[in-house]
Amino acid sequence: MKKHNSKITYNESLTEKIFFYRQQTLKRKKKYDQEQLNKPITFWIKKERLLGEIGKEFTIILRTRGCDWALGAHGGCSMCGYIKDANIENVAPTQIKNQFDYALSNKLNEINKDTDNYVLKLFNSGSFLDEGEISENVRRYIYEKIASIGKIKEVVLESRVEYITPDKLIEIKRYLKNKYLEIGIGLEAIDDYIRNNYINKGLLFSDFKNAIQICKEHNIGVKAYLLFKPPFVNEQGAMDDCENSIKELIELKVNSISINPLNIQKGTFTEFLWFQKRYRPPWYYSLFKCLKRSLSQEDLKTVRILSDPSGAGTKRGIHNCLKRECESSAKEVLRKFVLTQDLRELDKETFDCNCKKKYKMQKSYY
Ligand code: SF4
Ligand SMILES: [Zn+2]
Repeated sequence: MKKHNSKITYNESLTEKIFFYRQQTLKRKKKYDQEQLNKPITFWIKKERLLGEIGKEFTIILRTRGCDWALGAHGGCSMCGYIKDANIENVAPTQIKNQFDYALSNKLNEINKDTDNYVLKLFNSGSFLDEGEISENVRRYIYEKIASIGKIKEVVLESRVEYITPDKLIEIKRYLKNKYLEIGIGLEAIDDYIRNNYINKGLLFSDFKNAIQICKEHNIGVKAYLLFKPPFVNEQGAMDDCENSIKELIELKVNSISINPLNIQKGTFTEFLWFQKRYRPPWYYSLFKCLKRSLSQEDLKTVRILSDPSGAGTKRGIHNCLKRECESSAKEVLRKFVLTQDLRELDKETFDCNCKKKYKMQKSYY
């Protein structure tokens, strides 16, 4: 387990509340049985944008003890409820291997028969490179298996920056030399104040930049996650914050940017704000406006923009007025933009909804 950065100043009363809600969730948690621990949380295949083509993603979410940041004294990030799927106690290395094997044996035939290429997204709702969640022995076992699957052209793992070390990157490269590798890092926002005081991320931008440097030195790509509309930020603020973040990340030559509009997850501090009507998930209108303002078609030759919002079109996720046609038209616009990386797609809404007027009136206040 690695020490988190002690130079960060937090909003202590917020940290206390986040910690309180986290503890409540942990108290209510049921134990997972052997069968559940030998299967991943979930896995799926669906269309996704690959580096230079449209292909498929094979996503596996492994069940580990959970994110060390969420389990620690700071209570984790204000919007993150992933800990509800974690085991809290250690998961045996054999069980994690079984989880991976279970998903792979289920989908390998389909992958091998497919004409599309694949990106494997291997997630654990925490840090893949944290030994406390996934041991070296398990990492190597998994890398070896992935190396033998030719259809998988790209591999994405996620990790907090404190676990990204040169030796772990050398190890990945050694096993997966023929694949494009990317490490997903939850930066959320480039603004240190927003990130640490509103999101409680426990991460400095300077540490993120160091991690990019290490990845570059080892020829490994970086995918930065941005949180669209953190708590305590209104629609206008969300657009400004995300625009600044995208522009800075492009300057830093980050390979992919995944934009995650905040969705209200169970047992989180943001759920508490939402219950109190102090937070509304973002409107699609804001996201589209922000993307158009932040990006040029030229930028999209060097950076890949991803976004597959959880809970989209529902009251807990990004949404407009919740009218079926309005939500499905907006959802389709985003999906097509991500698949094609063509900014013109953002102007192709098929449903001109009158909720835009309400949005325009609200956006500076809510
Ligand atoms: S967002 Fe990532 S770092 Fe933050 S608590 Fe969740 S899993 Fe941990
Ligand atoms: Zn509408």
